[in-house]
Amino acid sequence: MHEMTMLSSVTQIIAEEMEQHGLVRLSRVTLKSGTLAGLVPEAMRFAWEVLTDSGPLGGAELCVENVPVRLRCGDCFREFAPEEQVVFAVCPVCGQELGHKVLAGREVYIESIEGEDHCAAKGEAAA
Ligand SMILES: [Zn+2]
Repeated sequence: MHEMTMLSSVTQIIAEEMEQHGLVRLSRVTLKSGTLAGLVPEAMRFAWEVLTDSGPLGGAELCVENVPVRLRCGDCFREFAPEEQVVFAVCPVCGQELGHKVLAGREVYIESIEGEDHCAAKGEAAA
């Protein structure tokens, strides 16, 4: 499953980030997912639950935010957001359909992670 492979590397990156920032527990991660990347949000949530079943990532919330397609026309260089989420969309200015550059919509990246550091975790334990 495409989503499982992708999220597997995401959890690795998150684990490294958490270590760097001294986070002991993850509470929420926000992912940006371009429409053209073709990741299905339901499948991502399922993969996330399987991958974070235990450990410091366990129980963390996964938010997936969609990045709509943005193109730059190969002919007139006008940037536009196509109505249909495809690369071969008709340019609203000159009508060109081919040769557009994809400015956004293909990317998948971690927008933010939120968690607790050692101090917060200790404070909670004391209270
Ligand atoms: Zn154009």
